[in-house]
Amino acid sequence: MSAFEKLSALKDKMMKPIYDKRRHLGCEMCGTTFYGHYQKDGHNAVPNGKETPHPTKKGWVILETYSDVFYPVCPSCCLCISVTDAKQAKEVYLERQEKQKKREERRAAKEEKRNAAPVNCGKRLFFERRDLFYKRLEQVWENPENIKPVELLSTSFLDELFIIHSGLGVRSKMFAHYKVKKLFIDGTYMSNSGKSKMGWFTPYFVIENTKTGKVREHGAERHVEPRKNRRNDPDRNWGLPE
Ligand SMILES: [Zn+2]
Repeated sequence: MSAFEKLSALKDKMMKPIYDKRRHLGCEMCGTTFYGHYQKDGHNAVPNGKETPHPTKKGWVILETYSDVFYPVCPSCCLCISVTDAKQAKEVYLERQEKQKKREERRAAKEEKRNAAPVNCGKRLFFERRDLFYKRLEQVWENPENIKPVELLSTSFLDELFIIHSGLGVRSKMFAHYKVKKLFIDGTYMSNSGKSKMGWFTPYFVIENTKTGKVREHGAERHVEPRKNRRNDPDRNWGLPE
């Protein structure tokens, strides 16, 4: 037997108890605990109990590991990097669960607060809660013949109705015998440098009663002409030098 073989036999003998011992392990990722053995290969090395201070980060330590002792994979989620001692794994898992639960509670409370806010569409059209407003928009879109006159006359109601169901842009749809067209007043203009577009589009609605042919328009009165700049002002010679 060569010296090398002797040495490796000695090492195997020394390491045997480490591999043979049945251990209570757990997975930080899925919370499963199980009994298993350390193994000779893998990706998650087992610490050997020694620690060295981190060379640059103050207060940090490096956990030293055995060179050829690894945790087995988690039998439940098949990850190996999240396997550790059962007690620690359980603690980490529960702590994360708890944090997630709190996060969800906070999100639900925020959502509820948002939904509880009233929505005022003007023209005596008022919703006590935001979710009731969106529920009503849904109902009207599904059954357009049920639209109420007050809803047909509300710019903000019609605006949101079109936005959530068919997006931005020019749209038209029949509501009972009323043909509703969503149009825009173009209030955009170029900046002084001509590099960017300023101003805004104001949506307005043209409603045609297809039985009587009567047409009415609303929303356009809300349009506010943006402030003039040098570039679009004839009094200042369109911003050109004298
Ligand atoms: Zn797992």
